[in-house]
Amino acid sequence: TEQQFDVVVIGSGGAGFSAAITAKNAGANVVIIEKMPTVGGNSLITGGQMNVPGNWVQKQKGIEDSIELFVKDTLKGGDYLGDPEMVQILAEQALPAAEWLRDYIHVDFYKDQLFQFGGHSVKRALIPKNHTGAEWISKFMAKTDELQIPIHTRTTAKALIQDQNGRVIGVEAEKNGKTISYFASKGVILATGGFGANVEMRTRYVPELDNRYGTTNARGITGDGIVMAEKLHAKTHNMSSIQTYPICHVDTGVISLIADSRFFGALLVNKQGKRFVEELERRDVISRAILAQTNQQAYVLWGNEIEQAAKVVGVHKDEFAELNRKGFMYKADSIEELADKFGIDKQALMAQVGRVNQFAKQGKDQEFNHRGGLKTLLQPPFYMLVAKPSVHHTMGGLVTDTHTRVIADNGQPIEGLFAAGEVTGMTHGSNRLGGNAITDITVFGRLAGQQAAAN
Ligand code: ADP
Repeated sequence: TEQQFDVVVIGSGGAGFSAAITAKNAGANVVIIEKMPTVGGNSLITGGQMNVPGNWVQKQKGIEDSIELFVKDTLKGGDYLGDPEMVQILAEQALPAAEWLRDYIHVDFYKDQLFQFGGHSVKRALIPKNHTGAEWISKFMAKTDELQIPIHTRTTAKALIQDQNGRVIGVEAEKNGKTISYFASKGVILATGGFGANVEMRTRYVPELDNRYGTTNARGITGDGIVMAEKLHAKTHNMSSIQTYPICHVDTGVISLIADSRFFGALLVNKQGKRFVEELERRDVISRAILAQTNQQAYVLWGNEIEQAAKVVGVHKDEFAELNRKGFMYKADSIEELADKFGIDKQALMAQVGRVNQFAKQGKDQEFNHRGGLKTLLQPPFYMLVAKPSVHHTMGGLVTDTHTRVIADNGQPIEGLFAAGEVTGMTHGSNRLGGNAITDITVFGRLAGQQAAAN
């Protein structure tokens, strides 16, 4: 069968929704196709925090920030392999994108809380309600309903259709074994995410990241958009930059949101009861440091003072219940009790916590120079969970220009083909900073929607 639209969006993560809604508002007739039975992709299962320099919560808290500082942090965090021009757009468009999410999509952001992820000079990440991407994916769903944008699930894009001049005019997709041709008079937008769940593809670029690693990714994140575009000689960039997330569940590989207490001062210790890395270091640095410890595991430890600020156990109740049931996380009245549960050197751990309490009071971490400042661990209850790194984000991907057009090997844009989100490889360089993906997919998703509709 054949279907006709102005714009066809492939993928229903944050990039796809941002693109589809924007294209629709610009007057285009839009469809979203999604290969999984449900929408959301990785965007659904993230913590959902979004870096926005100069945001309203920063203003209210008197936190100074600027577009320049965000650009600097982002480029430095990615070892200067990100594209400066695209990072500039990311930074400049972050606030309008966040205001759009807040005022038009009705994403409920916490009004008085911010996150400071590793590599960021200041607290600048807005936090959606309940600290998960579910808040904004559910609001995106409501908006697509309101705008009557059809979402065709269980529909897998297989190949891009070109006319005789090479212009992309549609997508060949498969649903229940049947082929459907989606024709797009204005453009096709690739928003298919990265390739973290595709072991064959990721080991082609980084052999070490084989089956031993779990992944935080949704099942559908298999690099399809990159593969389809490469058939049209699209250019890729930075493909071997694959990020592991340092703190994931040791059995499932799923990202640990409850361990976001780390951003509020939770410690990382090893079996010997010692800290071994600055807890706010970059993800790659922490991941490597953990893999160098006994059993390639780390233990995340915090007490009531930190929990009062982070509220992670309160917010992620289901995660706690599951980890606790499986013996991967405990709550106790003393740190000694936690050390016993996990077989950690008790004396060394108590000595370590003693030093941390002292550093917290002095306001200077003499061991690892913790950039957020250490907090005391004096008040019960105390919490500890065991964690390890797993494959999280693929920084590399398609080369796009400032109009989100997909660029071919010859340096020219492929007519009619746009891309946004993790499928692209422009902004994060060798290492994506926490909270930058949501900014990236919203900013460039909106831009792709605008550009395709105007094409
Ligand atoms: P981003 O963060 O860039 O928006 P996500 O991972 O959140 O990316 O979303 C990507 C979505 O694209 C997922 O829901 C995934 O299932 C979907 N997807 C991936 N490949 C295809 C494909 N070939 N056809 C349709 N949908 C796809």
